[in-house]
Amino acid sequence: MTDEFDTTVYYDDDADSAYVEDETVAVLGYGSQGHAHAQNLADSGVEVIVGLKEDSSSRAAARDDGLRVATPKEAASEATIVSVLVPDTVQPAVYADIEDELEAGDTLQFAHGFNVHYGQIEPPEDVDVTMIAPKSPGHLVRRNYESGEGTPGLLAVYQDATGEAKQQALAYGQAIGCTRAGVVETTFREETETDLFGEQAVLCGGVTELIKAGYETLVDAGYSPEMAYFECLNEMKLIVDLMYEGGMGAMWDSVSDTAEYGGLTRGEMVVDETARENMEEVLEAVQNGEFAREWIAENQAGRPSYRQRRIAEKNHDVEEVGERLRDLFAWAEDEEPSENDSEK
Ligand code: NAD
Ligand code: MG
Ligand code: MG
Ligand code: MG
Ligand code: MG
Repeated sequence: MTDEFDTTVYYDDDADSAYVEDETVAVLGYGSQGHAHAQNLADSGVEVIVGLKEDSSSRAAARDDGLRVATPKEAASEATIVSVLVPDTVQPAVYADIEDELEAGDTLQFAHGFNVHYGQIEPPEDVDVTMIAPKSPGHLVRRNYESGEGTPGLLAVYQDATGEAKQQALAYGQAIGCTRAGVVETTFREETETDLFGEQAVLCGGVTELIKAGYETLVDAGYSPEMAYFECLNEMKLIVDLMYEGGMGAMWDSVSDTAEYGGLTRGEMVVDETARENMEEVLEAVQNGEFAREWIAENQAGRPSYRQRRIAEKNHDVEEVGERLRDLFAWAEDEEPSENDSEK
């Protein structure tokens, strides 16, 4: 533990493997997070059963990786810790199927707080409800574990029935490699609301709208789509890489003085008071549950609006230009595909 930050950060020394070594973990789902948690736990000496439907195409993969596979219900029945790693939208249905297998003192473990925070899963009072959320897609959680590095993560306790919920969550975090890098303590509410706001207003929604608006502004003014693509989309990565490595300061230091002065004076003309008020509205809809209700209803209706927006986004000019240009140039490095990124 350290007081270096406002928040508490836990490392390997704060975790005691005794809190998981005699437990059996049911890992429900074998996707991005599921495969990584299951294999890391097993390699750390924890008993693991992967819970998948009889007809799941992931069953073969889990078996090939040397893991025991059962139905979610069977796995949960045998387990003392049930790690819910199916997609957030299917968690309530999977939970309904395994609910009766939870015994007093068992643990329900999550990697994201949406369903618990918005009341889509209401665990019984006598089980521990915890979260270890790696801040990384699953393939990195696995790769970092194998290479001896760690993956930073978040820890939260929603319900502590046994008095040991936090110690056990820390031990789980250690077993999947998170405490090697550091685990930050938060709450289900804070993790859920900041995650949703970030992906909506800044990371996924904000960035794509900013790119499209910039691209359209240039093209509508008569500039070539290729130039607009380079300036508004392609260069985004270079700028973000600099900020990732050294904060905004490193980016400002790297660009020309002209770019720095122009950015410092014009940026706030674009993201102005109105944009900030809009962000507040987005945050409010996250906080009061309006967004969650909308997304749950959208799923129940078969995702009509989601489908339509996906198609429109795919057909945007900037996508067609980009596809053409990425094929033409050598800078389209063959990086690993970003499978199931967290911000989905
Ligand atoms: P995913 O979509 O990669 O995988 C889900 C797996 O669940 C599938 O591979 C399949 O095995 C199973 N599954 C799918 N549909 C099912 C159904 N109808 N019934 C039963 N099983 C089904 O999921 P993920 O991205 O690993 O997300 C799991 C959890 O981890 C979520 O709560 C998510 O928010 C959280 N999380 C994800 C990431 C990430 O980078 N992917 C990062 C942090 C937290
Ligand atoms: Mg059980
Ligand atoms: Mg327990
Ligand atoms: Mg330039
Ligand atoms: Mg998210």
